[in-house]
Amino acid sequence: MKIAFIGLGNMGGGMAANLVKAGHEVNAFDLSEDALATAKDNGCTTFTDASEAVQGVDGVVTMLPNGAIVKSVYEGSVIGKTPPGAVLLDCSTIDVATAKEVIALAEAAGYDMVDAPVSGGIAAANGGTLTFMVGGTDKAFARAEVVLNAMGKAVIHAGDAGAGQTAKICNNMLLAISMIGTAEAMKMAEKLGLDPQKFYEISSQSSGYCWSLNAYTPLPGVGVESPADKDYQGGFATGLMLKDLKLAMDAAQTADASTPLGRHAKELYEQFAEDNAGLDFSAIIKSL
Ligand code: NAD
Repeated sequence: MKIAFIGLGNMGGGMAANLVKAGHEVNAFDLSEDALATAKDNGCTTFTDASEAVQGVDGVVTMLPNGAIVKSVYEGSVIGKTPPGAVLLDCSTIDVATAKEVIALAEAAGYDMVDAPVSGGIAAANGGTLTFMVGGTDKAFARAEVVLNAMGKAVIHAGDAGAGQTAKICNNMLLAISMIGTAEAMKMAEKLGLDPQKFYEISSQSSGYCWSLNAYTPLPGVGVESPADKDYQGGFATGLMLKDLKLAMDAAQTADASTPLGRHAKELYEQFAEDNAGLDFSAIIKSL
C-alpha cells in the first residue's frame, strides 16, 4: 500500500520505518526537519507539506501530540485532500470527544477512519511490538488492521469510534494507580525492615502480583530490569503519564464516572511532574 505518515516523532519515526520494512511505500511529513531527515534515511519519501504527502495514497497514519493538532491536521490537510476511499488511522493519544468528532467528519466525507492509540513506548514503536486498541466500524477496523499489523504485535477492535481512546486512558489510569500502589508497598516494606527483594519475591507470586511490580519493578536492583535500573531514564515519561491522567479525568467528568483514586493519582503525578516530567513514570517512588 501507499501510506502517508504524519508525525514522525519519538513514536512515529519508528512506526513509519516499520511500514517501510513491511513493504509499504511511505510518504512522510513532519514540521521538524530532523524528523524528516531520519524518515528519509529509513526509506520514506519526505514532503514539506502534509496536503502533498497525502496525494495518491491508499491510507493515512497520524501520530501527533494532542487532539487540537490532530483535528487541525485532518481538517486542513487530510479530509478532502486524501483520495476518496482511503483509510485513515489516528494513532495519537487524544481525548475521546475529539477522536469521535474527527472520525465523524471523515466519515461524512466518505472515508473509513479509526482511532488506534497504542500501548508500548519508544522501544515497542521501534521494534514493531506495539499493542493497538482500535475504535471504528467493522469495515474500518478490517482495513486498518492490515496497516497496524506491520507496526504491532497485537491489534484489538475495542468498539465504535472513540473506543480505542477510551481503552487507552482507562488502562493508563489503572497503570498510574497500580504503580503508585506498588511504590507505596515497596517503600513501606523497606521501612519496616523487610528486604525489598524478598518483598518482590513474595508479592510477585502472591495477590500483589501486577504488571507494575512484576514487569516494571520501580526500585533499582530489585525484581526485573526496568527504567529504575537506568536512573529512570527512557521508558514512559512522567509528563506523558500526566497527559493521559488529565485526559482520563476529563473523560470521567463527561461520563459522570466516580474515579477517586484516578483523581488522586493525577494530583500526585502533577506534583511530581513539576521537576521530573522527563523521568520514567515509575520514578514516582522517589516522592514517597
Ligand atoms: P513527539 O513529540 O516525539 O512527536 C510528535 C511529532 O509530531 C513531532 O515530531 C512534531 O514535530 C510533530 N508535529 C507536531 N505538530 C505537527 C503538525 N501540525 N504536523 C505534522 N507534524 C507535527 O511525541 P511522541 O512521543 O512521538 O508521541 C506521539 C503520540 O503518541 C502522543 O499522542 C503520545 O501521547 C502518544 N504516545 C507516546 C508514547 C511514548 O512513550 N512516547 C507512548 C504511547 C503513546
